[in-house]
Amino acid sequence: MIVRNPNIANLKAGYLFPEISRRCREFAATHPSAVRIISLGIGDTTEPISLHICDGLINGARRLGSIGGYSGYQDEGLLELREKISEVFYESKFGADEIFISDGAKCDIGRLQMLFGAGIEAVVQDPSYPVYVDGSVLTGAAGAWQGNGYHGVSYLPCIAENDYFPDLSPIPENSLIYFCSPNNPTGAVSTREQLLKLVKTALGKGCIIIFDAAYSEFIRDTSLPKSIFEIEGAEQCAIEIQSFSKPAGFTGVRLGWSVVPKTLKYAEGESINADWARLCGTIFNGASNIAQAGALAALDPDGLKEMRRLTDFYLGNAYRIKNALQNIGVSSVGGGDSPYIWAQFPGRDSWDVFTEILEKCRIVTTPGVGFGPSGQSFIRFSSFGRRADVEEACMRLRDLRN
Ligand SMILES: *Cc1c(COP(=O)(O)O)cnc(C)c1O
Repeated sequence: MIVRNPNIANLKAGYLFPEISRRCREFAATHPSAVRIISLGIGDTTEPISLHICDGLINGARRLGSIGGYSGYQDEGLLELREKISEVFYESKFGADEIFISDGAKCDIGRLQMLFGAGIEAVVQDPSYPVYVDGSVLTGAAGAWQGNGYHGVSYLPCIAENDYFPDLSPIPENSLIYFCSPNNPTGAVSTREQLLKLVKTALGKGCIIIFDAAYSEFIRDTSLPKSIFEIEGAEQCAIEIQSFSKPAGFTGVRLGWSVVPKTLKYAEGESINADWARLCGTIFNGASNIAQAGALAALDPDGLKEMRRLTDFYLGNAYRIKNALQNIGVSSVGGGDSPYIWAQFPGRDSWDVFTEILEKCRIVTTPGVGFGPSGQSFIRFSSFGRRADVEEACMRLRDLRN
């Protein structure tokens, strides 16, 4: 018989979100009540795709039904869309051949992990979005679980004491740094000065940064950078991944992109951009052309207004949740320029607080420790929810006080 891939065997049992679902089902089964359980747990969008963007999708599908409008494979994505992305997000400083359209940021992370292979060392913010570490385990870049982290991964604590921006001095030379801003799960957004430090460190140590900017459209403070490429030197050390999932409600439609500058090189001077094109052509045949038509609509003036309205809506939810927490004396970060609120319960275990909120308020949250050891004592509240549910949840949070 075939033997199991040892990398899969290295993955710690139980992905966070299935474990949360299991605990909720168990709770519901043992605590029957007419009071509905409200989820502020998972980072999935809830609002319908807005009209103009939806029309883009519909028209894209319809064109496929005509001889003149039909199109098939387009590996790196529609030229028009790649040019539009460069113009809207990067002041046209990237050529179309430096922008790769994908089926989403998570999928791009997985392919990037394959690109860099088992030989690299991974560095993550702690806490962090699970795929950075779990995907590294799958490719063999990270090894077995060792009680408080995976072998071969450097965890950089992001805690209240450092304002959720890590000390960069432990970063090993020639490593792959995963960095997310606005951050999931902490909601913290790195400043220009902080990102400048990150880029300088990467350049000095021969590292590559994989910069996850999936939440950039939630930034309202205009002094905060929305892209790593606003930072001088980033074109020599960073890859950016992006997604329409959160700002356009495309979590189910699937569309994102990566920016891999031609100035990015390996130690021997070979082009990372050329390898990325090769890898994507080999194991990925391009994103849906219907989704790309939707993305084009999202980037014209009407679409940009709709994305702004949608992200404003979720930020409105975040504002309500943050206030409700403040009213019961719980301090939190995030929420102003990101859809996540990171609430601190000093001295408590994350899963215990998760259970208490579920039992007293019938609200599902995410235990911070599920995102990494430094998430202990925190709870992540997601602002992705219907407004009536969020308002109801905010009322119920008062029951936490006693
Ligand atoms: C939701 C999310 C993404 C987006 O993933 P898609 O695959 O594009 O849906 C990427 N990064 C982070 C940190 C996220 O939370």
